[in-house]
Amino acid sequence: MAESITLDLEQSFGELNESVLVTNPDRIIVYANTATERLLRAKPGELAGTKTKQFFANPAEFEELGELYSSPEAQQLRQKAHAFEVIRCDGTTTSVEVIHAPIFNSANTLSGYLIVVRDISERKTLEKKLGDIALTLEDALDAISEGFAIYDGDDRLIICNENYRDIYGHSTAAIVPGSRFEDIVRFGLARNQYNTDGLSDDEWVAQRLEKHREANGSVIEQNLADGRWLRISETRTRSGGIAGIRADITELKEARARAESAYKNLSLMADNVSAGITEIDPNGLCVFINKTGCEWFDGSPDELIGTSLQDRLPWREREALRPIIKKAHRGQKVAAEISLQFPDGVRRECQLDCNPRFNDLGGVDALVVLINDITDRKKTEKTLAELYAITSTRELGHEEKIAEILRLGCQHFELPFGIISNITEDLYTLAYAHSPAGELVSGATFSLGDTYCALTLKANGPLATANASKSAFSEHPCYDMFSLETYIGAPLLVDGVPYGTINFSAPAARKRDFTAADIQIVRQFADWIGHEIARQRDHQALMTAKTNLERVASIDDLTQILNRRAFLERANTEIQRFRRSKQPFTAVMLDIDNFKQINDRFGHAAGDTVLRQFSKSISNALRAVDVFGRVGGEEFGLLLHETQEKEALLVCERLRRIILTDCQMENVDQTITCSMGLAVTAREDIEFSTLMQKADTALYQAKSSGRNKCVVFVPEPASTSD
Ligand code: GH3
Ligand code: MG
Ligand code: MG
Repeated sequence: MAESITLDLEQSFGELNESVLVTNPDRIIVYANTATERLLRAKPGELAGTKTKQFFANPAEFEELGELYSSPEAQQLRQKAHAFEVIRCDGTTTSVEVIHAPIFNSANTLSGYLIVVRDISERKTLEKKLGDIALTLEDALDAISEGFAIYDGDDRLIICNENYRDIYGHSTAAIVPGSRFEDIVRFGLARNQYNTDGLSDDEWVAQRLEKHREANGSVIEQNLADGRWLRISETRTRSGGIAGIRADITELKEARARAESAYKNLSLMADNVSAGITEIDPNGLCVFINKTGCEWFDGSPDELIGTSLQDRLPWREREALRPIIKKAHRGQKVAAEISLQFPDGVRRECQLDCNPRFNDLGGVDALVVLINDITDRKKTEKTLAELYAITSTRELGHEEKIAEILRLGCQHFELPFGIISNITEDLYTLAYAHSPAGELVSGATFSLGDTYCALTLKANGPLATANASKSAFSEHPCYDMFSLETYIGAPLLVDGVPYGTINFSAPAARKRDFTAADIQIVRQFADWIGHEIARQRDHQALMTAKTNLERVASIDDLTQILNRRAFLERANTEIQRFRRSKQPFTAVMLDIDNFKQINDRFGHAAGDTVLRQFSKSISNALRAVDVFGRVGGEEFGLLLHETQEKEALLVCERLRRIILTDCQMENVDQTITCSMGLAVTAREDIEFSTLMQKADTALYQAKSSGRNKCVVFVPEPASTSD
């Protein structure tokens, strides 16, 4: 029997790839096909006659499997595959899955088992690997800081990470594998998960689903009810599902909003500063330009951005700018002063500040260039320097200094007329004036009320208008009378006392308004003119004092003619002149005769009167070029200019007679006479003293020979002895 059965079995299962074996009821192998032998690593024919139990790694499983057949009810279980570990003939183990089928004979008694065995070790390793991969994937997903979820083709959640559940905190209960996307969304919506921004739930869900199903990788921003913002990007998977990534961009949104508002503020600020501000990229092209910059470069931002601003300047200035820009592009902050001719037709003195902007790598991304117009500052500096030069020089007199200051003011303010007025009560007098063709004459007077200066005095400080017709100045009488459109003036104080004003004016309106610096300048001018006038006054006072002092020092109190010191000084000057010109003159010594007697008889006061009258009479009889002085009590000196002996004697005789007629007094009963000694300059008279001595000698002779005489000095004849 066994033989034929075996043969049948071999015919049925021998060539099968599946391992098949047949046992008797005691689970002793009666047949095993080649595939089984391969599976269990047995030699051909080695398996028949052996018990299956030996192959079970866990003998308990052998018993369990046996139990399955003890009752007919176990039929259900029998159809199931059973997996267990087996020990193969070579001692190695593997996993198998077996299906048992009992074999019944015709008498319906159990005659054995048909067993199909499948090696499942490969599948097991695969399953394990898959499990590992799934774990790894979940770990990986959890490591992502974004929320990540994959939905399948039916839009059911396959997998998501912890972040995904965290982000949608209100929806966590619904976020489980198998849940449909729409259900999860609606679940969250019902729990106030989203900010629907006024849309109805259905509208909002419809919009959301539409986007979700597009899944084209485009980015959408989603606002949650608690204010958070998510950036969602969804894409189709190859199997038709949808993979989505969600990032919390709340901070980013806020930062962006802050940056936007900061940018707006910055632009507003940049547009409201008087400096030109521009940003240029490494290629030298304009990226940003503010309002002032647009005005100077004479274009709109649209016209200027993307172009080279440098190229709009004259080539010489481009050349001057090049090294500055280059240095800044290398990462250095560069400041420079440069004069630029701008496309709007205005030349400006510029203070340039080039600030490189660095990227994260330390490279220069752009240059922020600040251009400050310092034309006015430069001009002010120049004017102040000139003012200093004028006021401190010794080369100019007071009048010249004042004239120069007026000229400087006209130049600085670019106005034709400059005036320094002296104001007393309601009278306005031109003290000094500067005008192109001398139209303004100093000394001219006006009524104060008719001049703008009335306003300046009232304001008690500098006042200016660059366009009178458009200001309150137009209501002033001055506007009608002189039609001056431009005026800048300041009150003038001299030693703290109001003196008048300094003012500059023009019939035409000024192109630009006066600046704060201009007001400062006119104030400075007023200060300096005030000082100058005060100094001029001091100088004049000093000169008068000096003259007085000199007079006092050289004039004899009693007679009001030169005193001895002054006379001798003049006499010395005359001697010097004689030595140079060889033009002789005559020195005369005069002495009143018997004067002591007059004093004695008529009193000292009468004597004084005689001295005064004597001096007066002689003085009146002399030429302006002659010098006359009192050299002692009743002694006088006289220098007859370029007069020689003969002529001198005539003069002295005339004087002597004048005394006789002019000098007699009612209350002095004595004839007043005088004696004179004359000496003409000779070669040896190097000092006046020698000449005076000669005159004295002659005078002595006049006295001793009877008085009331004029005697000329005659040198002693040279000794004849030799
Ligand atoms: P002689 O003719 O020789 O010159 O005689 P004399 O009296 O004029 O000469 P003397 O030198 O003796 O006298 C001069 C007098 O002049 C003496 C002095 O008191 C007087 N005397 C000098 N100075 C003044 C003066 O300022 N006023 C008056 N009243 N007398 C003066
Ligand atoms: Mg005398
Ligand atoms: Mg005398």
